[in-house]
Amino acid sequence: MIKVYNTLTREKEIFKSIIPGKINMYVCGPTVYNYIHIGNARSSIAFDVVRRYFEYRGYQVNYVSNFTDVDDKIIQRAREEGVDEMTIANKYANAFIEDTLPLNIQPATVRARATEVIPDIIVFVQDLINKGYAYEAKGDVYFRAKKFKGYGILAHQDLNEMAENAAGRLNDEEMTRKEDPIDFAVWKATQAEDEISWESPWGSGRPGWHIECSVMAQKYLSNTIDIHGGGIDLAFPHHTNEMAQSEAHTGQKFVNYWMHNGFVNVNNEKMSKSLGNFTTIHDMLKHYDDPMTIRLLLATTQYRRPINYSSDTLTQARVALDRIRTGYRNLSFRLTNADVGKDADLESAIKKQINIFEMAMDDDFNTPNALAAVFELVTLANTYADNKIVKIETVQYLLDTILLLLGVFGITELNDKPQITDAQKQLLAARVSARAAHDFELSDQIRQQLSESGIIVEDTTQGQRWHQA
Ligand SMILES: [Zn+2]
Repeated sequence: MIKVYNTLTREKEIFKSIIPGKINMYVCGPTVYNYIHIGNARSSIAFDVVRRYFEYRGYQVNYVSNFTDVDDKIIQRAREEGVDEMTIANKYANAFIEDTLPLNIQPATVRARATEVIPDIIVFVQDLINKGYAYEAKGDVYFRAKKFKGYGILAHQDLNEMAENAAGRLNDEEMTRKEDPIDFAVWKATQAEDEISWESPWGSGRPGWHIECSVMAQKYLSNTIDIHGGGIDLAFPHHTNEMAQSEAHTGQKFVNYWMHNGFVNVNNEKMSKSLGNFTTIHDMLKHYDDPMTIRLLLATTQYRRPINYSSDTLTQARVALDRIRTGYRNLSFRLTNADVGKDADLESAIKKQINIFEMAMDDDFNTPNALAAVFELVTLANTYADNKIVKIETVQYLLDTILLLLGVFGITELNDKPQITDAQKQLLAARVSARAAHDFELSDQIRQQLSESGIIVEDTTQGQRWHQA
């Protein structure tokens, strides 16, 4: 039984999918006008872990996410660089794919782009007008927020307060176009000749931001979807507006479980361009050779909590991952000299940790507690690796279990830098022979040679083990 915290009800609810065994899930993707920052990566990783855990539990997950590829920021960037909007959008959409690959974020089942669904958006907007939920004003189309019963409840916002805030943000010109300051644009009239636009029943223009996600979720998933995810900053206005538009359009509930991930702080400060601590994944990957450490840090903080990204927290994650890799490696070495059969006691200890892991993940994806169970398994691996006699089935079971559970966090490979050269292999073999012949002077010499080439050798009662420095 999986429990999910639903932002709409502010409660952990028992998860039940609409279709048994299947999940329709939509997660808001980035606006492609720049490299993604660590906050975008956190959101992608948080929902990748949610997806992976549902898959671990046997669900088939249909995961749809978008690229916002038409937007004020893209138009602005295109002007600055003297290229068209699609050049900017394509460049950063490709960069997103490149940057999320080393972080082991699974590709979406469908990665939709706003500009690919313009005809669907126009039909959707026209329907809102026909139903009296939207109106045209000087080529813009606005949604009548107050007409939608329960507008604002998703983010637990007070309608009057929202209206005051909205009025404060508008200029006089906008005030004359809107019936009510709280109304929001679903279609925007073209402002300048050089900007990207499409013909519509309301003149030339482009879609507002919120409408694209409503349209894509319906087009690629269904009128009612199981899960909608995104950063907590999207609850209002973005998701509030998506919910109003979608439910006004279909007359059905839009989302059963609204899930929102927490912020990323950098050195305990909110990340912002003005503070100069804006961290793109593109830059991080250039300077950091072990992306799995970043993945572990972002995946194993509970998704609703803030993450503090700093060199300290990154180092802690690296130490944690090294510990896991070492335990895994120590036990892997025993595959070569294990006896047949299995150890029933150890297998029941392993099953106990699997159970703890699942209980933690079932409880609204409590990844820190789930990680603690993985560490217990690593301790078992280290202890068992030191046994005089080990049983091959149990060694394999423990190794497989560690990998299986870590796979939920997106850590799917533990053999760090597994390639060694033939020369190193020969030296390792030569050292085993030297020790067997009690030629310790030679074996020490070879150890030194190996160490200089980056291979650290240690001797255990079960023989020689090595790892890369
Ligand atoms: Zn969205």
